[in-house]
Parts: sequence; C-alpha cells; structure tokens
Amino acid sequence: PKYKGKRIPAYDMIKFSVNLHRGCFGGCAFCTISAHQGKFIVSRSKKSILKEVKAITELPDFKGYLSDLGGPSANMYRMKGRDEAICRKCKRPSCIYPKVCPNLNTDHRPLLDIYHAVDALPGIKKSFIGSGVRYDLLLHQSKNPDTDKSTQEYTRELIARHVSGRLKVAPEHTSDRVLNIMRKPSFSQFGEFKKIFDRINREEGLRQQLIPYFISSHPGCKEEDMAELAVITKRLDFHLEQVQDFTPTPMTIATEAWYTGFHPYTLEPVFSAKTQREKLAQRQFFFWYKPEERRNIINELRRIGRADLIDKLYGKR
Ligand code: SF4
Repeated sequence: PKYKGKRIPAYDMIKFSVNLHRGCFGGCAFCTISAHQGKFIVSRSKKSILKEVKAITELPDFKGYLSDLGGPSANMYRMKGRDEAICRKCKRPSCIYPKVCPNLNTDHRPLLDIYHAVDALPGIKKSFIGSGVRYDLLLHQSKNPDTDKSTQEYTRELIARHVSGRLKVAPEHTSDRVLNIMRKPSFSQFGEFKKIFDRINREEGLRQQLIPYFISSHPGCKEEDMAELAVITKRLDFHLEQVQDFTPTPMTIATEAWYTGFHPYTLEPVFSAKTQREKLAQRQFFFWYKPEERRNIINELRRIGRADLIDKLYGKR
C-alpha cells in the first residue's frame, strides 16, 4: 500500500513471469531453497498454469512476451523419483550431486508440454526462460532412451525458442575442489554444455550469449582459486558481470563451514575469506578485464606467489 499507485520495480520484474513449481533437489551447499521449499518438487497443474498465463495476456500492458516460465531451477518441473518409496527413505541432500541418482526421472516431456501449451495460447508471441537452468540435468544420460530423447529435444527447444538473447546458468566456480564443497558438478560440464549451446546457436542461425554466474569467497575458496578462475574465464572469452560474493545464509552447509571453520560432514578444516580485505581480494579477480583492477590484480598475484598467471591474464609485457 505504501506505493499508492506508483511503479513498483520489483513487481515489474515478475509481472509477466509464471512460476511452474516449488522446491529444488540440487542441494547446493550455499542455497536455502531446499530448506525453505523442500527437496521434493511440487508442480502446478497444467490447467492452473494456463489459467494464470491467460490472465497475464489480459493485462493492459502485456505485449505478448512472457519473461519466465520457471521455478527455483527452470528444468525440474514434475521431476521426481521413479520409485517414491525409495525417496521417502532417502537421506541424500541432492538428487543430482555427486551423480544424478539412478532413481530420478529426468524426463523433460512434461515441461515441453507446458511450453507448447503456453505458446499455443492466443496473445503469446514468445515465452522466455528467465530462471536458471541446471545443465547437468541436460547432459545426463539416463538408462531410458525416451527420457534422453526428451532431454535433447528440450535442450534444442530451450536454446532455439526460449532464450531472450542470454541464457543464465550457474557453474558457480571453475575449481573442482571448491565445486565439491559447493555440491556442484565439475566445471568440465559447463564446458560441455557451452559447446552444445554454441553448436545449436550456429545451427539455428542465432547469436545468443551464455551468462555464467560465479561466487567468490565461498568456504574452501582461496585467492589462488579466484586467480585461476580469472584465467579460465578469460580463455573462454567471458567478461563476467553476474557474480556475487558469498553471503552466509541460515540453514546451509556452507554457512556452517564458514562459521565453524570445519566442514560439518568431514570435520576437515575449511578456510573462509572473512575480512573485507580478504573478500575484496577474491572478488576483484572476476573483473580482470577492467583497467582499474589491473594493477591490484598484478600486485596480488605477486603477493600470493602466482606471478606465472600475470602473463596468462595480461600477455607478455
Ligand atoms: S532416491 Fe534419488 S530421486 Fe529419490 S530423493 Fe533420493 S536422491 Fe532423490
């Protein structure tokens, strides 16, 4: 009520976006979604989704473009265990890390069906996927050929028809050691997905961008890991924008490691950057391409004994 008819920027962002499901079975160590919404996906019915989309098409300023058909992870709609009795007894915090669970049904057909039904509605010109996509699910080879075919179809359709120029994905780091603490797949999977993304773009005559998200100062991440992240993202020709510095959030494994200094599962000591100096030193490596960061980065690389990376970042001087 305090806005009293004024524009609400946060509402503008979500006005033409539709949430398809709740929950996430990714189990990332730094994320609270599974604590808030649960590991088991609760999906809306097709009828309910279409009813909301129809209502959006009737909004006076709707121009035919839905900004998101999503959820905590865009492509988990209707996914669950093939045998739910096994799931009920399951203690795994993630259904996809370290490997996709053989009991998880990764069929993307129900989600494709929603995309098709939404796009067929009068008044819809295009529906975009603004939520983050789990590419490890797209790369997964299950033992079911129909499921795998649906995943390939989904990948092509997503890239060819539902990306508004930029597709958001979240590798979160380049170091597999840090990714392991984050409960995220190896960075090599991002490379694999990027190849598929670039190939489909070429085949479809599109020039879309992949936008990777990364986190600095996550427990277990040292400055050296960030220096290597800078070199790797430079090699891949990314100028990063979508980044964040780790913020402890209640009820996560990462925060427990950050607070205690120990990994709660292994009881091994875990380093966390905590002071402002330590955190800024990590964060600056995202921005190696900005002229104003260059001098600090070079000094820092010398200080941590990684002068070998200076040439890799800035060429021979
Ligand atoms: S059995 Fe597999 S699919 Fe079911 S909850 Fe456990 S990890 Fe997830």
